[in-house]
Amino acid sequence: MGHSRDRDYADFRQEVRAFIEQSLTDEMREAGRLQTSVFPHMKQAIAWQKVLHAQGWAAPSWPKEFGGPGWDAIQQQIFREEAYRASAPTIILQGLTMCGPCLMGYGTKAQQDYYLPRILSTEHIWCQGYSEPGAGSDLASLTTSAVPDGDDYILNGAKIWTSHAHEATHMFCLVRTSTEGRPQKGITFLLVDMTTPGITVEPIINLNGIHEQNTVFLDSVRVPQTNRVGDENDGWTVAKYLLEFERGSVCVSPELRRNLRLLHRGAKTERTANGEPLIEDRVFRRKLAARDIEVSILEFNERRILSTVVDGGSPGVLASVAKIVGMELLQDIDKLATEVAGLYSLPLQSEALVPGHEKEAVGPDYALTAMPRYLDGRSVTIAGGTSEVQRGILAKSVLGL
Ligand SMILES: Cc1cc2nc3c(=O)[nH]c(=O)nc-3n(C[C@H](O)[C@H](O)[C@H](O)COP(=O)(O)OP(=O)(O)OC[C@H]3O[C@@H](n4cnc5c(N)ncnc54)[C@H](O)[C@@H]3O)c2cc1C
Repeated sequence: MGHSRDRDYADFRQEVRAFIEQSLTDEMREAGRLQTSVFPHMKQAIAWQKVLHAQGWAAPSWPKEFGGPGWDAIQQQIFREEAYRASAPTIILQGLTMCGPCLMGYGTKAQQDYYLPRILSTEHIWCQGYSEPGAGSDLASLTTSAVPDGDDYILNGAKIWTSHAHEATHMFCLVRTSTEGRPQKGITFLLVDMTTPGITVEPIINLNGIHEQNTVFLDSVRVPQTNRVGDENDGWTVAKYLLEFERGSVCVSPELRRNLRLLHRGAKTERTANGEPLIEDRVFRRKLAARDIEVSILEFNERRILSTVVDGGSPGVLASVAKIVGMELLQDIDKLATEVAGLYSLPLQSEALVPGHEKEAVGPDYALTAMPRYLDGRSVTIAGGTSEVQRGILAKSVLGL
């Protein structure tokens, strides 16, 4: 049984690899190489998703009934590994891994029929409006209000850190519909068309000069009540379901392996003060080996999580551990990459990070993204729940503290 399953996965990997090899254009590969965060360059990511969509692979994690390929968790990981290996742009997360699953779990049939195919086709691009200036880790304290008015709600407030809001056609968001009782009880999940009057999007420029996040101001924004997902005041249940769905899918080892490969390549070219290749330097080799081993350990743990999911189980706290370790390891590898790039990591060349740019970059290829990745990496232990909060969860649920 085990053997045939392994053989099936090996065949599947070959099929995925061959398809990616023949379908990825040079422009898409360039965009993948120049990507410095979890968020892809939108234009090429859309072009890539259209190619995948034609193949039925646009949404790796979706079941067949909603237009996904129906892959199990291990097949999804193989797809991720092969996509990173070929420098494909990563998938556009918010629609495919966040809003889509919420609609599958809690949307009406009409909402599913309307929105899901448009997520797959890229006609709709989504952003996630959860965080607010006064509500991050303590999300339940959010205050953006939605007041019923006829068949609509009227929204007032602000969302912050909203990734891709400037490129999105829609935002799924949490709003306050009641201030009675526990704060979690008065939250509602809404779908908002970004062209609705009263929405203003202002950029937040990252440390590395790239524009991915935004503040979204909502000033008397009229949203039809039919855009509500789940019941009024029950948005927390929908938001929690999303976390359930995501469990076990936070596997970063394919990205870490790719980053290690780049590092390795750079270290063969760079020389130490003595003129020997950096890769021969004992101190450097020790650091590289340590990171390599840590990535292998993470890979084993991710596989444990994935096979638990394939067998119908729940990975439980192991997923939180993998998130903390994976993100901290990502930061360590980014730091080592700046060591390899040395002086070339100093000029911040934001313009040369735009796919299709005409600007000649200073320094070798691998050095161009080293510092932008390092700077972006400061945020990975914050976004999606900070490491401190995750550790708090572990202390409570595992150690019983
Ligand atoms: C790059 C990036 C992209 C993002 N994209 C989006 C997006 O698209 N949509 C969206 O809605 N949000 C997004 N976020 C927001 C993200 O979810 C929040 O930043 C995160 O939840 C932390 O909230 P905060 O920034 O308000 O920090 P705070 O919650 O104010 O935390 C400040 C500090 O206090 C610590 N702290 C807080 N509570 C506890 C606790 N209970 N125990 C121990 N320590 C604690 C934190 O660890 C942190 O160090 C993004 C953030 C980043 C950095």
